[in-house]
Amino acid sequence: RAKKNISDNFEYFAKDIEDKTTWRLEMIRRLRSDFMARKLELWFQPQVDLVSEKVVGMEGLLRWPDGNNGYISPAVFVPLAEYSGLIVDIGEWVIEEACHRLKDLKEANFGDLRVAVNISMPQFRDRSFVNKVLGTISTSKCDPSLLELEITESVVMDEPQIVIDALRTLKEHGVAIAIDDFGTGFSSMSYLQQLPLDRLKVDRSFIRDIEPGKSAVLAETIVTLGNKLGLLTIAEGIETKEQAEYMIELGCNEAQGFFYAKPMPFTELMDYLVSQKDAN
Ligand code: C2E
Ligand code: MG
Ligand code: MG
Ligand code: MG
Repeated sequence: RAKKNISDNFEYFAKDIEDKTTWRLEMIRRLRSDFMARKLELWFQPQVDLVSEKVVGMEGLLRWPDGNNGYISPAVFVPLAEYSGLIVDIGEWVIEEACHRLKDLKEANFGDLRVAVNISMPQFRDRSFVNKVLGTISTSKCDPSLLELEITESVVMDEPQIVIDALRTLKEHGVAIAIDDFGTGFSSMSYLQQLPLDRLKVDRSFIRDIEPGKSAVLAETIVTLGNKLGLLTIAEGIETKEQAEYMIELGCNEAQGFFYAKPMPFTELMDYLVSQKDAN
C-alpha cells in the first residue's frame, strides 16, 4: 500500500512537471509572438527627490497585455524571457523605447529627467550589447547621462568580469548605472567598488520593515554604505509618508513608490509631469 502511494505521488509530480513545462513553453511562444506584433508596452514610474518631492526621473517597466484588459506581471514573464533568450531582443527594444522617450521629454521641456531601464544577464552575454546601447544612444541623439541601466547584484555576481568590463565602457560614454534591489543578493563588497556606479536602490523589503518608533537597521546600513561610497541612494517601494520621512532622516536622496505614483503609460506620465509642474 505504501509502495502504491509512492508511485501515485511520483506520477502526480511527473504530471505536474509536465504541465509546468507545457505552460512555460506556451507562455514563451505567446510572448515571442506578442513581442513581434509590438504588443509589449513600457510603462514608467516616477522617481522623486525625497526632500522636495520633485520628479527627477522615472523607471521603465515592461507590461504584457493579457488580451483581457489586464496585464501579465513582469515578475512572471521576465524570467521566461530570460530563460528563452527572448530578453535580448526585448531588452534592446526597451532601451530604444527609453531613448525615444528621453527625446519626447526634452521636446516637452522636461529635458532634465532621466530614464532608467532594467538589464538582465543574457543581455550582457550578448557580445554586441555595449555597441547596441551606444548605437541606440547615438541614433536617437539622447543625452547618455540621462539613460540609467539598472542591474541586480545577482547579475554582477554571475559573470563579474563581463559585467564590469561592459559597464566601464558604457560609463566612459556617460551612461548612468544603478544597482537594483540592493541588499537582497549577496554582492561582494570588492565588486561594488570596481563597478562604475551612480546609484544604489534600497530594496523594497527594507522599506517595508520601517515601523513607527522603530529603527530599520538594514535600510540605515545600506544608506550609510551608499553615502560612504559616494553614491546616490534611492528608496524603492515607498508606500507611506512615515516611510518617506524615515528615509529622509537617514539621508537617503531619492524615492520611488506608490506613495508618489504607480507605473503608468507614457502619455499618462506626461500629464502627471505637467500637473506636478503646475502644482509647484
Ligand atoms: P524592479 O526593477 O525592482 O522594479 C520595481 C518593482 O516594484 C516594479 O514592479 C514596481 O511596479 C514595483 N513597485 C514600485 N513601487 C512600489 C510600491 O510602493 N509598492 C509595491 N508593492 N511595489 C512597488 P513590476 O513593474 O511588477 O516589475 C517587477 C520586476 O520585473 C522589476 O523589478 C524587474 O526586475 C522586472 N522588470 C520589469 N521590466 C523589466 C525590463 O524591461 N527588463 C528586465 N530585464 N526586467 C524588467
Ligand atoms: Mg528596477
Ligand atoms: Mg528594484
Ligand atoms: Mg525588484
